[in-house]
Amino acid sequence: MIKRRRTKTVKVGPVKIGSSAPVVIQSMTKAPTVDIARCVKQINQLVQAGCRLVRIAVPRRADTAAFAKIVQKVNVPLIADVHFSGARAIEAIEAGAAKVRLNPGNIKNRKDILRIIDAAKMHRTAIRIGVNEASIRDLKKRPVPREKRTALMLTEMKKYVRIFENRNFNRLVLSAKSSDALRTIEINRRIAQTFPYPIHLGLTHAGLPEDAQVPSAIALGTLLAEGIGDTIRVSAAGSPLIETKIAKEILIALGLYQRSTPELIVCPTCARAEFDVVKLARRVEKAICEIDKPLRIAVMGCVVNGPGEAADADLAICAAKNKAFIYRNGRKISTVPESKTIPALLKELKKL
Ligand code: SF4
Repeated sequence: MIKRRRTKTVKVGPVKIGSSAPVVIQSMTKAPTVDIARCVKQINQLVQAGCRLVRIAVPRRADTAAFAKIVQKVNVPLIADVHFSGARAIEAIEAGAAKVRLNPGNIKNRKDILRIIDAAKMHRTAIRIGVNEASIRDLKKRPVPREKRTALMLTEMKKYVRIFENRNFNRLVLSAKSSDALRTIEINRRIAQTFPYPIHLGLTHAGLPEDAQVPSAIALGTLLAEGIGDTIRVSAAGSPLIETKIAKEILIALGLYQRSTPELIVCPTCARAEFDVVKLARRVEKAICEIDKPLRIAVMGCVVNGPGEAADADLAICAAKNKAFIYRNGRKISTVPESKTIPALLKELKKL
């Protein structure tokens, strides 16, 4: 069992973020915000996939106007992603944002930050202070060498948190992001030691989905295993549903999320495989994709590890020469010709 770091609890609409609540998965819409219908569709898909918060970028006035309409059409708290503009942040708060993601460092006017804080207080909106490694500059606005960036990010975070606390605002979530997994781990450990606020974890610009998975799992997984992190967003180019799937898999692997869909165990295959395991596994994957039960299904290529995996599975297929053994809860229940494997599996699935 992972022991979570104790934090304050921050309410984002009805969703609680902090150690008193489960780790929250969030993602972002990836359609133009003014395309309200597409955004609403994406948000609903994300909620279906397991997101409890969804973030939307609002770079222009037209976007905050669209944001106000999207808020009315969905059933999940929305986060407005704001850069550079105090006006956009206030518009988003007034439009019903449950939380605003802000990098105070790129809001030029200090008075604007204070206005945002006052508006957030009035509307009970949470604020995520986001510091990104890419935006760290020294006093002369020059890029900072890598080895000094963690310390500077922490200094910057302290400065921003002080501004909010001095105005009696503590509905805060903190995030410090880098595209580098090790620096993400380092800075978040420092933030966890320094502040009592919940932490949002993520890597910036993690890459295409196939490239984003490993660094995200290492950075987020390491921190979460240490009890650090209260909400996560996996960044990957492409569909936000893929981000959500990766985020969910990370949490499931750490025992921080209850699986509600089947888990497919597939042997890696080797020269002993008695039939095309990957092809069969793909067919099984398709056959079970709409089941919403946390079943464990194994597809094994031969009898070396098959019966062992089958013992832990609700259903298992174990290949033998031109045939397959079907196991239910570790007990061999039938032997079928290879061509009848899928229908036999479906029949057993129905019984479950
Ligand atoms: S189950 Fe059999 S085929 Fe699959 S990897 Fe193990 S030994 Fe190879």
